[in-house]
Amino acid sequence: MARKLKFSPKINMPGPGLFDLDGDIAPSTPIPTPEATPIPDLNDPGLAGLDFTINIKAPGQQNRPSAEIDRIAIDTARLNATDSILFMSFGSGSSGNCSYIGGRTGGFLIDAGVDIDKVRDGLKANGLSLDHIKGVCLTHDHSDHMRYAYTLVRKHRHIGIYCTPRAMNGILRRHNVSRRIKDYHTAIYKEIPFTIGNFTITAFEVMHDGSDNAGFYVQHDDRGFAIATDLGCISDRADHYMRQADYLMIESNYDLNMLLFGSYPEYLKSRIRNVNGHLDNKVTAEYLAKIYTQRLRYVFLCHLSRDNNTPEAALAASRQALEGIGLKVGNGLNTPEDNAANVQLIALPRFDCSPLFSLRP
Ligand SMILES: [Zn+2]
Ligand SMILES: [Zn+2]
Repeated sequence: MARKLKFSPKINMPGPGLFDLDGDIAPSTPIPTPEATPIPDLNDPGLAGLDFTINIKAPGQQNRPSAEIDRIAIDTARLNATDSILFMSFGSGSSGNCSYIGGRTGGFLIDAGVDIDKVRDGLKANGLSLDHIKGVCLTHDHSDHMRYAYTLVRKHRHIGIYCTPRAMNGILRRHNVSRRIKDYHTAIYKEIPFTIGNFTITAFEVMHDGSDNAGFYVQHDDRGFAIATDLGCISDRADHYMRQADYLMIESNYDLNMLLFGSYPEYLKSRIRNVNGHLDNKVTAEYLAKIYTQRLRYVFLCHLSRDNNTPEAALAASRQALEGIGLKVGNGLNTPEDNAANVQLIALPRFDCSPLFSLRP
């Protein structure tokens, strides 16, 4: 499970989950093998009829042979709105996490830790609805990521829950949730791709103190979106997926000084800094500078601590690191300055909905 750590200037002390005192316990029922449960695809009746955005490969996007061609292709693709992957966050942090990835006519959620009404309103404000949501992928069983999962699927029965069997067991064991949630569960397995609509998604291991914590690598057309929230360090598999992403949602949880000199009790400070805890702004920033290639277009900093971080501190750390390697860093706005930038850097709001981002190739 835990592999060699590539980026982990961390103290390493075992401890229970940040939100669950009983820690990560082995599941009480055997985990089925990947072969035992079919991975869903578009032939699945429950997923049939999805009508996602038609994606037309922009000229010059088949390969990325040089910076020149890449820039020409970006400008061309920008004209074609239907070619964009849409992304929106409805909340990010320990108060609740949920985000949308998809197109104009369909997509899915990552996590279900935000009130459904808020998600519905956020989608509606951008011309989308919960009818467009075909599934919700859960990263792990901490309540800020799954609190509204059952409410969501019970009220919108076309939505399936995608998580690993161990994560589902963790939800049932740790939370007061009806066992009927299992009726909506599609078992997924790390490193085995599955599809929702015309998105191919691969869960990967991240180190955290929930049950069977996952990141996701979402592929659509020739582009990839890596999601890595709630991780105490950047292990090999997380690194593998993040460094090939065009778009990246990565945790930037705390400012070390704010944490060290803040009001949290020592045991909690240790748990946050643990390799199975959360990511330090500085670690995230240095990592971004280390993996940057021209392919990386958007970075969304997520899960900022309310008490031990500020959006300004998180953004400043990553901006400084990226500018330190000579990049122009944009703010994700559609200004001429941002359009000329190498990479867009955005801190996701903790409580509010973000704008709907139309992610350019
Ligand atoms: Zn969390
Ligand atoms: Zn967590």
